[in-house]
Amino acid sequence: MSEAAERLADIQAHIAGAAQRAQRRAGDIHLIAVSKTHDAQAIRPLIAAGQRHFGENRVQEAAAKWPELRAETPDIVLHLIGQLQSNKAEEAVALFDAIHSLDRSSLVKALARACQTAGKQPILFIQVNIGDEEQKGGCSVAELPALLAEAKEAGLTVEGLMAIPPADVEPAPYFALLDELAERHALPLRSMGMSADYETAVTLGATHVRVGTALFGSR
Ligand SMILES: *Cc1c(COP(=O)(O)O)cnc(C)c1O
Repeated sequence: MSEAAERLADIQAHIAGAAQRAQRRAGDIHLIAVSKTHDAQAIRPLIAAGQRHFGENRVQEAAAKWPELRAETPDIVLHLIGQLQSNKAEEAVALFDAIHSLDRSSLVKALARACQTAGKQPILFIQVNIGDEEQKGGCSVAELPALLAEAKEAGLTVEGLMAIPPADVEPAPYFALLDELAERHALPLRSMGMSADYETAVTLGATHVRVGTALFGSR
């Protein structure tokens, strides 16, 4: 087994264990391998080991890396997990299968236009600033209902919520809150949990965990 394949198997085993503890099906949880800053050479061993969901945080970087990798492996599922500028909405819709960072009105409008032009819509998550932190991306918890309504009015289907809890504090209450918000709005998907806390996120309802360092080593 390659080192990448070993790391992947280890993380999948931990996800399966956490799912079992929470009486959830492991198949309902998608592991997104966060490949930002890593080149094609680092990514290929994971693809060879069967990994299909990948996450990038910048449109430009993804556009440079992924067309070639996707030509080799057509069933790759590509997720945008970083902030999106409205002027890159069209490019993002063309490139990504899912966008986790819808967080403001201007982006709702830009994405709605881009989806109409492209004739397709990626899976959409609204990013929530779950700890109400200054300078962090995401709409506030208070703004969420209005943003969901705006998205619906613009013709977009939002399927889930995404959050990055505050650093250096116990994340479980934030994961539980995101799960509750998703439940309240009847949204089936929850994108939460990273290298340090994905097991906790799985026990609290994550459907998508975003793991970089634990799969690729430090950036
Ligand atoms: C980089 C990144 C991750 C992965 O973080 P790790 O700690 O390396 O697993 C997850 N989510 C987002 C939004 C990121 O930018």
